[in-house]
Amino acid sequence: AAAPESRTFEADVAKLLHLMVHSVYSDKDVFLRELISNAADACEKLRYEAIAHPALLGDDPKPRITLTLDADNRRLTVEDNGIGMSLADMVEALGTIARSGTKAFMERIEANKAGEGAQLIGQFGVGFYSVFMVADRVDVVSRRAGGDEAAIWSSDGKGSYTVGHAGLDEAPVRGTRVVLHLMEDAKSYAERFTLERIVKAQSGHVPVPIAILDKPGAEPAEIADGAALWTKAKSEISEDDYADFYRSVAGQFDKPALTLHYRAEGRHEYSVLAFVPETKPFDLFDPDRHGRMKLYVKRIFITDEAELLPRYLRFVRGLIDSADLPLNVSREMIQESAILGAIKKGVTHRVLGELDKLAASDAEAYAKIWETFGAVLKEGLYEDFERREALLGLARFKTTASGGAWRTLKDYVGALKDNQTAIYYVTGNDLERLEVSPQLEGFRARGIEVLLLPDQVDSFWVTAGIDYDGKPFKSVTQGAADLHLIPLADGQQQPSAEASEAVTGFIAFVKLTLGDQVSDVRASDRLTESAVCLVAPDHGMDRQLEKLLAGSGR
Ligand code: ADP
Ligand code: MG
Repeated sequence: AAAPESRTFEADVAKLLHLMVHSVYSDKDVFLRELISNAADACEKLRYEAIAHPALLGDDPKPRITLTLDADNRRLTVEDNGIGMSLADMVEALGTIARSGTKAFMERIEANKAGEGAQLIGQFGVGFYSVFMVADRVDVVSRRAGGDEAAIWSSDGKGSYTVGHAGLDEAPVRGTRVVLHLMEDAKSYAERFTLERIVKAQSGHVPVPIAILDKPGAEPAEIADGAALWTKAKSEISEDDYADFYRSVAGQFDKPALTLHYRAEGRHEYSVLAFVPETKPFDLFDPDRHGRMKLYVKRIFITDEAELLPRYLRFVRGLIDSADLPLNVSREMIQESAILGAIKKGVTHRVLGELDKLAASDAEAYAKIWETFGAVLKEGLYEDFERREALLGLARFKTTASGGAWRTLKDYVGALKDNQTAIYYVTGNDLERLEVSPQLEGFRARGIEVLLLPDQVDSFWVTAGIDYDGKPFKSVTQGAADLHLIPLADGQQQPSAEASEAVTGFIAFVKLTLGDQVSDVRASDRLTESAVCLVAPDHGMDRQLEKLLAGSGR
């Protein structure tokens, strides 16, 4: 074979590596979770390809991950008999950044020079490159299933790597071997006790069995059985089991705020294990972010790219395991599958139902979820007409009357003033500024509650023609005309509908001065303290939406 060739990492990889190695990130253990999850992914990819090409399995059909320790040489080896990589695969996978989230992650780091880096890494599935937190050299030897060549990749993580062909006798018969030359201060990763502890804590539920060898050539001992957690009975699963599984499937470090585990029977048979995370992923509003539910068919991993839930539930992590889909369903066919369509509907319904149940049983826990993901859920108000009612029921708002607490629309409608026929809101992008907006004066003076809507998405759903309990949503900048119907609180004098002569003269002056810049100038009921405010026409774009669209250059 030709001598290995030296290449430099793509610029983003070099940056990521630098960050990973130089951040004082204390939880170095995660490198193992990343390697095991890659090994498990490789086994699952092979299982999937073998459905159409059983010969790929040869005489070694059972997936396995093996950890081999070599304390004398300060070495740790992670090996799998999965799909493997060709030389070209290696260059693509281990020299560039392919994962979609990484770019967004890097941008966050760039924008955040304040040293939030270590914390961000913690939130992020750090991937293969995390090996360089513990190793000063890493060799990856691999042979692609069905391939007749082996390849070796090697790097010290400092800007370049070498890659070339390897002899077949140096490589696994099929799959990938990752050899870590551990740094002096990371030598405990070649000890059985440490590794067993980490595997149990992080990877105990990966769907491939894991064995450990105390030293090269020793007898393998199984430390995780590879049984799929979601196929077990709920009574056999502890909260910790769920949390561990969540962390390994989501690559996150937080806990699930809500866990959903059930089996649907009837027209379609499938299992669902899904989680609402506790914290917000950094790429939640990245336009490239797609759903994160994995699709399995009879315990075989099919894809994590099918959109199994509507976009406004893109923060939900977990999996759906169908018993009805054919195993050989192609990834392309998936989006058109009627069975999956029905499953998507069923699971969406269930997720919203569980959120609603939680809201009823533990309002505080639910409020936390809303605080984190409410802005995403609200996208459903204009995207999912069918579930608008359910979503309006789940929605929570801060209002001029809530004193910082969350209110439901039911609360709001229960507190309507006499003659009040609409739900009033004010949009903006800063809650504190909204609260002191002069637009609210006339409403305050009448004791009318106003929803404070600080999220971008708010400007879209409120103008989608939605109503709640027969009451339309009306912007305070558009609803002022209604105000004279509602009496002022505490006996204040209702201003006369007729503007005084002085005011009429002033209005004429302002109209003349501003000319085309305004469409009208009027005396108004809405102000009690401020002299003037800007409003949108009664029928037209909301002011906040107008600003947003102007900002996006439309
Ligand atoms: P991710 O797993 O999110 O794609 P990683 O940085 O962990 O990101 O891995 C990058 C890529 O390297 C994987 O997508 C895969 O193509 C390849 N890879 C890593 N480890 C293995 C392995 N054990 N077997 C096969 N391919 C692997
Ligand atoms: Mg990975």
